Amino acid sequence: MEFSNFNFHPNVAAGVKAIGYVTPTPIQEQAIPPVLKGRDVMGLAQTGTGKTAAFVLPILHRLMQGPRGHVRALIVAPTRELAEQIHEAIVSMGKQTRLRSATIYGGVGLSPQIRKLHNGVEIVVACPGRLLDHINQGTINLSRLEVLVLDEADRMFDMGFLPDVRKIIKHVPSQRQTLLFAATMPDDVRRLAHEILHAPVTVQVNYAAPINTVAHALYPVEQHLKTALLLELLRQTDTESVLIFTRTKHRAKRVGQQVENAGYRAASLQGNLSQNRRQAALDGFRDGSYQILVATDIAARGIDVSSISHVINYDMPDTPDAYTHRIGRTGRAAKTGDAFTFMTREDGDMVRSIERVLGDRVERRILDGFDYKKPMPGRDTEFARPPRLPQQRRQQKIAKPSGHRPATSAPQKKHGGGREGKHKFGGGGARKPLHRSASHRGYRSHSS
Ligand code: AMP
Repeated sequence: MEFSNFNFHPNVAAGVKAIGYVTPTPIQEQAIPPVLKGRDVMGLAQTGTGKTAAFVLPILHRLMQGPRGHVRALIVAPTRELAEQIHEAIVSMGKQTRLRSATIYGGVGLSPQIRKLHNGVEIVVACPGRLLDHINQGTINLSRLEVLVLDEADRMFDMGFLPDVRKIIKHVPSQRQTLLFAATMPDDVRRLAHEILHAPVTVQVNYAAPINTVAHALYPVEQHLKTALLLELLRQTDTESVLIFTRTKHRAKRVGQQVENAGYRAASLQGNLSQNRRQAALDGFRDGSYQILVATDIAARGIDVSSISHVINYDMPDTPDAYTHRIGRTGRAAKTGDAFTFMTREDGDMVRSIERVLGDRVERRILDGFDYKKPMPGRDTEFARPPRLPQQRRQQKIAKPSGHRPATSAPQKKHGGGREGKHKFGGGGARKPLHRSASHRGYRSHSS
């Protein structure tokens, strides 16, 4: 099977050739023919499978016929990064088509978006919130829409966007082609699909289980040794780009600094950054000026760096789905990759859930030459505890107003008021088994 079998419009075929795709990926092979026929499609595929081209190419083909200057295709995506990535795919695959695409998302000015829409575009790639703003202000006209795509619908659900998506659907013509892509199918997404898709063709690639080009390994480690283990692992491993996940924004920032201090070209990506700084971190990671990016789950959504060789879960993900999404960043489109996950004694339940989804036990690895016995530092205990929800930290600060250092000041000498006091972690001597407080037991339960 080759792309030439699809008989794309010559200007679309030229775009495929220009970006160097020869053989369609399984999702492309399955989805492109029904999309070209105008059918509704439900695609079960995660990022990394080539799903973007699976909907972008037939859309470009379709739009080659018909009027210009109206919004005829709308792609709704959960994050700015994913929206940018889809837009870039449209621009590169559609270079010869003279079709115009615009992105619409929050955190940047409205006016340039309004100007672009006013000047006329055929394709809009949007995040739900800002798109609704434009709809409500009458700055976008969707009355001539022909194709609606909901990409990463399960992530939109996770992020609470489904009500917005339903509102958006009320503003688009009911006579349309609808395509819905998701890596997993929670009940709410299935219901939505049932409501908005008309006699859909279902195509499915590797449902739920992470792509099998990725090698998985678990590294059991004490909480306070994670950074040391990370640095040793980086030192001993031959890597291209490395994406590291932490549970909280604060940890992403701190681990990013620690890796940078160790001499790596590293950046961190977390929700507190301005759009400009996010973009700079992403661009730098994409073009290789940063070899390492440390990110939270939300901040990392939609990252597509084809040379990511390693995903390292510094903190365990919240759910098996989150694991799938994280490691979907490596092993993309049949490249191989490694997924390393640090596992502390609190993480046993989640490891078992992930292994159930993988259908296999994950290898436990011990890193040669690493001192696993290094005692807990007596003073800098910042990373000696499992990560907490930022909210819990904020509440704690409010409860303890005076003399308490802000969470971002580092290194912290001691966690004043921390529920887990020195008697459990301090002293640097022999440690007792950890007995998590109720709040810590609950720290994993905030997942979607
Ligand atoms: P996606 O799942 O759409 O984010 O795509 C994952 C990666 O695979 C991107 O870097 C694409 O450029 C690449 N890709 C998609 N389709 C193909 C293909 N048919 N041949 C080679 N690379 C592809």
